[in-house]
Amino acid sequence: MNVALFGGTFDPVHLGHLAVARAAAERLALDRVYFLPAHLPPHKPAQPVAAFGHRYAMVALATAGERSFVPSLLESPEHSPAHGANYSVDTVRRFQRTLRKSDRAFFLIGIDAFLEIAHWRRPETLLRAVEFIIVSRPGYSLAAVEAALPASLRRSHAYGPAAAEGGAASTPSEHGAGGQLVLPGLKLHLLGGVAEKVSATQIRSAAAHGRPLDKFVGPAVADYIRKQGLYREP
Ligand code: ATP
Repeated sequence: MNVALFGGTFDPVHLGHLAVARAAAERLALDRVYFLPAHLPPHKPAQPVAAFGHRYAMVALATAGERSFVPSLLESPEHSPAHGANYSVDTVRRFQRTLRKSDRAFFLIGIDAFLEIAHWRRPETLLRAVEFIIVSRPGYSLAAVEAALPASLRRSHAYGPAAAEGGAASTPSEHGAGGQLVLPGLKLHLLGGVAEKVSATQIRSAAAHGRPLDKFVGPAVADYIRKQGLYREP
């Protein structure tokens, strides 16, 4: 099976996340996409986030109608270290221990989050452990992927689908639209074409001002936010 981990704060999960997962599932023939809310996101320490239980519940509601989208408890408080934060490099290892030998594992991420990858814990180990699927997002360019890699991984490289088989490299402009970036010991899949202008920040703000949420999230998630009074100003 082709399986992907899709980590995030998911505060709340929105239509952009679903578009990312759908595009990746289609392109890489994914049998499962695990939506993995982080207990305490290490990269957003200053920002207060809704309780894990609320974020997980919304992920469960948003993925309910999708056969291959599965909510994951791998980074739930019970599975988190005493200091709280989970690191993807550890989560991926734990995830891989649950897989069969024949399974192919991917790590799904938006380009905005990928641009920070060099500052994550042990980025080289993580990038070599699974194939990354990096998806476009309005306001960010996939052409920035290579420069975002840790310096040690940036050297001899080749772009494009043919590069995987040792063929000719494609041009950076093709790279900006999608394709593959293949380096010794790692493979990145670049997915252009996702252009959902939604962010969780925007949704929290809309909820705080009592504005409708229906164009950002599915009806079940909008209903949950209303019933629980999430993101209202104190
Ligand atoms: P916030 O506004 O709170 O920063 P967010 O909308 O970026 O949140 P996250 O839960 O932080 O959502 O994102 C989880 C993952 O989904 C990240 O890899 C992020 O890049 C990706 N992602 C989120 N929204 C989009 C989008 N509209 N298009 C492409 N990728 C997205």
